[in-house]
Amino acid sequence: MLGEFDVIRDYFSDVGAFRDDVAVGVGDDGAVISPSPQNQLVAVTDTLVESIHFPRTSPARSVGHRSIAVNLSDMTAMAARPAWATLNISLPSSDRDWLADFTAGFGELAVAHRVQLIGGDTVRGPLVVTVQLLGEVAPEHYVLRSGAQPGDAVYVTGTLGDAAAGLRAMTRGDVHGWLVDRFLYPEPRVSLSAGIGRYCSAAIDVSDGFGKDLERVLQASGVGACVDLEALPLSAHLARNFNDDESRYLAISGGDDYEICMTVPPHAGPALEEFCQSIECPVTRVGIVESAPGLRFKLGGQAISVNVHGHDHFVTDE
Ligand code: ADP
Ligand code: MG
Repeated sequence: MLGEFDVIRDYFSDVGAFRDDVAVGVGDDGAVISPSPQNQLVAVTDTLVESIHFPRTSPARSVGHRSIAVNLSDMTAMAARPAWATLNISLPSSDRDWLADFTAGFGELAVAHRVQLIGGDTVRGPLVVTVQLLGEVAPEHYVLRSGAQPGDAVYVTGTLGDAAAGLRAMTRGDVHGWLVDRFLYPEPRVSLSAGIGRYCSAAIDVSDGFGKDLERVLQASGVGACVDLEALPLSAHLARNFNDDESRYLAISGGDDYEICMTVPPHAGPALEEFCQSIECPVTRVGIVESAPGLRFKLGGQAISVNVHGHDHFVTDE
């Protein structure tokens, strides 16, 4: 049986990119890093609990991938660049195959985005993974949820609702497919962070559902918005498997998309669109920020009432 020390040495000591700003990484009581003096540090963290955030049938590679992806997505929404990560993991057992796949999933994304794993903690218990990600941003170039202004456009990246549809498919027993992969292996929009910093008045990543996450921006900013249901970006896969109403429900109230929702002052819209094109990140204008509080929807030019659901650990919609 692999001991705690063997697990750390064999699976967690050499994960991610090698960075020359890491003076001491995994192995001592603490890590030592040298953040660049001209930047500010940004810290984000997220916990994934088996059977709450992912089904028991999730492959280990997906658990590793998602544990860092959700944090990369938060970092991007702050308009910051990721750099260093810690990993606190509670494991039911020290299974070599599971650990190898988990670190492969974590490591692929960490290398792709130049993140080094610098420390963590490993304990035995139910499967729970907490990643903290540290990153950098030029002074006061971070973007908050509170900056949206009446007249700004609401934009969203990629397509919405796929991950929620994929999760539904998994609970029916599917293990493969494009929608399932959108849940298991979300691709955070890391390269968008520079564009968010330059052109956006507010940003949030879509983790609990587009409607709920946009409402958070509106509340923080003290404004409202009107979203055009026909403008919501839906994938061909979603549209093939669900009718219009179901697709829109999943797009508005399904979670786990890890797309970015942004508000953009009118003069900056074209520049943001051009930036997104240059990094091959699809982006769609879906609505407009208004001064009256609340999130409203329209369909065919007419106001339409939509119940916005979304994920909350303590409050259930039903
Ligand atoms: P301590 O008992 O002093 O806290 P540990 O034995 O828990 O030390 O950890 C030893 C080293 O391994 C530390 O550098 C710690 O940050 C690192 N480490 C432990 N678990 C992980 C993990 N899951 N991922 C990355 N590094 C880890
Ligand atoms: Mg110690």
